[in-house]
Amino acid sequence: MGLDDITRRIRAAESAAGRAPGSVTLIAVSKLQPSERVEGVLAAGHTVFGENYVQEAQAKWPAWTAAHPGVSVHMIGPLQSNKARAAVQLFDAIHTLDRVTLARKLAAQMAEQGRHPQLFVQVNTGDEPQKAGILADELPGFLALCAELSLSPEGLMCIPPDGEDPAPHFSLLRDLARDHGLPGLSMGMSADFETAIAHGATHVRVGSAIFGARNAQGT
Ligand SMILES: *Cc1c(COP(=O)(O)O)cnc(C)c1O
Repeated sequence: MGLDDITRRIRAAESAAGRAPGSVTLIAVSKLQPSERVEGVLAAGHTVFGENYVQEAQAKWPAWTAAHPGVSVHMIGPLQSNKARAAVQLFDAIHTLDRVTLARKLAAQMAEQGRHPQLFVQVNTGDEPQKAGILADELPGFLALCAELSLSPEGLMCIPPDGEDPAPHFSLLRDLARDHGLPGLSMGMSADFETAIAHGATHVRVGSAIFGARNAQGT
């Protein structure tokens, strides 16, 4: 547990996969964590953080990013279309581009604000009816629409189904990204980031294994 331990395990997983040291970006997921834990990880010099809720991130991050230049904050939670303006203002990357209406809103906001957060398209690799994300079959059409809107996603993101072996989902995401020439793969959390790295993850999203258990979600 803790930042040093997770960083060591990432380096070991990169090496085991024959990948260059530092080729995987660790997103420290700070949602619903007490401030002092996040401040400890900022003080240790970590620069990439993840959040799930626009309002929570708006309340916490402007002061921290002002105090720690070079820190970037990634949106990894579901994004409502009416929060697109705030999200483009606040985040350096958005991992949850998961539908046409959101693509249109983000494109409009990016044009208006002149800010261009990195984008990842969320793919529903398990075809789960309740889960967000573009279905694998619909990805070519969705990427074509992104191109029409002048959006250039950096890569793909997935959250494998609960209780299933994540490996087939990670390899499906890797194959889809390769087929579409997308370099980024946002996959792997506390329980499975090493497996994700073995399958080519470029961004792992690790929360509780760095910070400890979260506060219960309020809403
Ligand atoms: C909360 C969250 C994480 C981090 O989860 P941990 O199990 O605490 O590592 C990663 N990705 C997404 C999309 C999340 O919502």
